[in-house]
Amino acid sequence: MPELPDIDVYVEVLAAKLAGHTLTGLRLGSPFLLRTVAPPFDACIGARLAEVRRVGKRVVFGLDNGLWIVIHLMVAGRLHWQPEAPSLKAKNRMASLDFEHGSVLLTEAGTKKRASLAIAEGESGLAEHDPGGLEPLEIDWQTFASTLRRENHTLKRALTDPKSLSGIGNAYSDEILHAARLSPVRLSQQLDDEEMRRLYDSVRSVLTEWRDRLRNEAGGDMPERVTAFRPGMRVHGRFGEPCPDCGHPVQRIRYKDNETNYCAACQTESRILKDRSLSRLLKKDWPKTLDEL
Ligand SMILES: [Zn+2]
Repeated sequence: MPELPDIDVYVEVLAAKLAGHTLTGLRLGSPFLLRTVAPPFDACIGARLAEVRRVGKRVVFGLDNGLWIVIHLMVAGRLHWQPEAPSLKAKNRMASLDFEHGSVLLTEAGTKKRASLAIAEGESGLAEHDPGGLEPLEIDWQTFASTLRRENHTLKRALTDPKSLSGIGNAYSDEILHAARLSPVRLSQQLDDEEMRRLYDSVRSVLTEWRDRLRNEAGGDMPERVTAFRPGMRVHGRFGEPCPDCGHPVQRIRYKDNETNYCAACQTESRILKDRSLSRLLKKDWPKTLDEL
């Protein structure tokens, strides 16, 4: 699922391409994509694009008539720039936002269609689509610490809870915990100040480093290789491969169709976390839905 670094690069590129341009068409490839009935989606057509924002893991297009087009890419949704208005006949083509100089095409691979599009009115309407997490790159460390300590969750859960922190999912939380040398199953209220500070610093360094890297890769164009599994990630998606810091094989905790990756030597004092006991623990304390991840 695209997370903060991926979405921020989408938002920057879209804002540069679209600001001030008029939306000439909003077409849906599937009626199930649209999750709202009011305001009607064709009320957006003819308005000018005022801004593009990230809200949690959503890409949001703000129009000068007060309406917002809210797109949640979920796992397999991706955005593309098309110089000509694209046909939506192919099954993976979910929607097109047409402007006079090109279109933003939303595609979603696979058979499970989870991506969504909603229309909201005004800041209060948009707020209904915001899970409310704080922006991890905008808060000071005391705010970060008090947010994570409010409840006693595993660090994996605490980092990926969209009601606490905005934009962090399964991939970057693995990378953050590895950078912080902390176990994904440590409980947030057990961290001392030094560990909490290390976690805060790792959140900032991992997210900004990846955002810079993705921005450079995209080079001002729409990023076309958005994936949760990137070469250069240290543990995420690298089960069995050597940890780049210590050479020990990367471990995993499997849970349904997800897994958490970590390095035992770097993060858990070389303890291999048992799949079975952990899934019991995590059953109560795992991001409950794919959306949360
Ligand atoms: Zn290691």
